[in-house]
Amino acid sequence: MKIVHSIEELTESLTSVRKEGRSIGFVPTMGALHEGHMALVRRAGKESDFVVATVYVNPTQFNNQNDLKLYPRTPENDARLLEENGCDLLFFPTTEEMYPAGFTTPNVPLGNLEKLMEGAFRPGHFNGVIQIVYRFFDLIQPDKAFFGLKDFQQVAVIQHMVNFLKLPVNIIPCPTLRETTGLAMSSRNMRLNDADKAAALHIFKTLAFCKENVENYSPKALYHEAVSFFNQGALKLEYLSIVDPVTLEDLLDSWVPGATVCIACFCGDVRLIDNLTIVPYE
Ligand code: AMP
Repeated sequence: MKIVHSIEELTESLTSVRKEGRSIGFVPTMGALHEGHMALVRRAGKESDFVVATVYVNPTQFNNQNDLKLYPRTPENDARLLEENGCDLLFFPTTEEMYPAGFTTPNVPLGNLEKLMEGAFRPGHFNGVIQIVYRFFDLIQPDKAFFGLKDFQQVAVIQHMVNFLKLPVNIIPCPTLRETTGLAMSSRNMRLNDADKAAALHIFKTLAFCKENVENYSPKALYHEAVSFFNQGALKLEYLSIVDPVTLEDLLDSWVPGATVCIACFCGDVRLIDNLTIVPYE
């Protein structure tokens, strides 16, 4: 695996790949990598000839400066894991290179996507995500890009950007990897101690509660049951939404294929998100 830090080196490495007609699979990450990221890298390796990963903690998608400051960083371990899992090229950029003076991104109106859930609670977050993912797509020109459904709304936002700007890249959503306990793997879990991790299990328990009870309630009624269930645990709920997987709007009276429960909450001062699709897609 080759590691590059500058756009010049990145472009040089990718030029030969393209000349040879090899397909490029791209996995963007913020580092502090774990098995969930590795599943994306391995999938990219199966579905493309050449795998590019990026490790960059993008400041423009953080609405909370403390969260940015405390975001875990493990660059040596990241490089080792990526190499072991078949990544061909790792791009570790600097902020100066990512956002040179005068840099602009095309305007992508997000409508409801930035008003609901993560959009509502993290103002400006998705604009930052669009900014960095657009920048990487422009530099790397991947054939396929792999994103985890752990960030359910992010996948919808990226797919919307690709459709809106008619970008020539296939977005491949990948399932969420969990610990055996059910806790969704996340870089932020590195900030949890054992007691926090035990408390955080209540997120998955609530998602499972919703799945078990989908036939007993309307979405609106299940929402109320799920919030009371969640509040029996020790975490602080930011939102729990039972949504249509396409519009991401709250479901009220009837179920739809792909209905998904999304949760954001705080375990101490660590913000965690998770989701589970509780009605199968047709
Ligand atoms: P991050 O480094 O948190 O920005 O995540 C980089 C990519 O890995 C995103 O597409 C995430 O959705 C994905 N990802 C993070 N955690 C998981 C997980 N537990 N399972 C699958 N994909 C994940």
